[in-house]
Amino acid sequence: MASEFEVKKQICEIGRRIYDRGMVASNDGNISVRISDNEYLCTPTGVSKGFMTPEYICKVDSHGNVIQADNGYKPSSEIKMHMKVYRDRPDVNAVVHAHPLYATGFAIAGIELTAPIMPEAVITLGSVPIAEYGTPSTEEIPNAISDYLQHYDAVLLANHGALSYANTLLGAYHKMESLEFYAQLLYISKQLGGPKELTQEQVKRLYEIRRQFGMTGRHPADL
Ligand SMILES: [Zn+2]
Repeated sequence: MASEFEVKKQICEIGRRIYDRGMVASNDGNISVRISDNEYLCTPTGVSKGFMTPEYICKVDSHGNVIQADNGYKPSSEIKMHMKVYRDRPDVNAVVHAHPLYATGFAIAGIELTAPIMPEAVITLGSVPIAEYGTPSTEEIPNAISDYLQHYDAVLLANHGALSYANTLLGAYHKMESLEFYAQLLYISKQLGGPKELTQEQVKRLYEIRRQFGMTGRHPADL
């Protein structure tokens, strides 16, 4: 297993990727990793996720209380949302929250990502629902995502952004990247006269492939 320092470096690397890909503006977004039953590493509030070094990363317990934080850094203001995911999904070890441009556009327009338009998005994500709007940093977002956590590995947050999670940090990040790519393609195909969706039969075959691959996580194919 990776050392705590290694995990902190990985969080900085993923922060740099979400920043470089325009998935967050300014100091937005947050990332966390479960390192033991009651220990979690998370990004601090009020810093750009593109320029973090390991000493920025905070350690909290399962209630979000600080165990360790250097130089006055404070854990993400969205830590309650992360803890809700860990509580409800024992298989999840990492959570990524960002505001990717296209996915957030859909979340603001109130359009769920349900159209089956390309094989990778169908296999990886299936469809992506929108959780009801909640005020950031309150219990409203944890409550709003509650219904979706058991069936999906990525969810849009109404008028806000996106949330993805997986058994590894890279896996959680890749879901965010796939989600944004899916949203971009859906947006572009809508400009070009509307997507030609895959048929139910084609979707069923992709779901079958997902089962054969034995992919981890939750997916509409399991419903
Ligand atoms: Zn946010």
